[in-house]
Amino acid sequence: MSRTVYVNGVYVPEEEARISVFDRGFLFADGVYEVTSVLGGKLIDFAGHVARLHRSLGELELTLPVTDAELLAIHRELVARDGVEEGMVYLQVTRGAADRDFAYPEAAVPSLVLFTQSKPLIDSASARNGIRVITVPDLRWARRDIKTVQLLAPSICKMMAKKAGKDDAWMVEDGFVTEGTSNNAYIVTTDGVIVTRQLGTEILHGITRAAVLRLAREAQMKVEERPFTVEETKAAAEAFFTSASAFVTPVIEIDGAAVGAGTPGPVATRLREIYIAESRAHAI
Ligand code: PMP
Repeated sequence: MSRTVYVNGVYVPEEEARISVFDRGFLFADGVYEVTSVLGGKLIDFAGHVARLHRSLGELELTLPVTDAELLAIHRELVARDGVEEGMVYLQVTRGAADRDFAYPEAAVPSLVLFTQSKPLIDSASARNGIRVITVPDLRWARRDIKTVQLLAPSICKMMAKKAGKDDAWMVEDGFVTEGTSNNAYIVTTDGVIVTRQLGTEILHGITRAAVLRLAREAQMKVEERPFTVEETKAAAEAFFTSASAFVTPVIEIDGAAVGAGTPGPVATRLREIYIAESRAHAI
């Protein structure tokens, strides 16, 4: 069955959705995106995603062509039209179409595209079994805090993992793990401390990260926001990652070495449960 795509003010079947070849999203990866998860037909942490969207747009002097209320209405309309119970809504804002020029064109009108993707989020093999990662050099640019559509570097890193027969890559810079190809990375030390890299331009400021760290602190778990190494990961009791569509997912192996017992650990398992319960309770 064909999905509905929202493109610049209209809802069309996906086969009819069109964007100009002169759109700077296509020519320069000049655009930003967000992915909001859907559980029980409702949006998870919509406010957080919109806040980060505005931050990304601001950093690139881009403007959102609709109001936040209109953006929420579009999300809801697509979820309803496509009958999404579990999955995600993808949204992308690009600078729009203009003659090819490195300078931002003044006259371009930003393009807005949204579509849904149905997918089981709660019941996933990764969550049940944990995933295996390899480490790779972080090949990305210096402004990873801006959620741009230029995703070739993480795609290359993900392919390295796939070719190695593993599930994902943790990217490493100056000896420290930055993050996963499309998620934030964590370890749990043998003292039970949750460690994840502090916010900065080196990583994306995950919306799930913010929620999970808040919930961990509320549950009296100890959290340290600092860089950690691959060696620390190998010596850790547990490792896990977070993202909007994978929630909290255990990591059971890094570069062929088992992390902890080599099975999903209690901290990741508990955080996943707490996060899902909280998300369901506050979904809109
Ligand atoms: N880091 C990177 C590089 C990502 O691509 C993502 C997901 N888009 C995340 C972290 C996780 O962010 P969020 O929890 O907002 O999905």
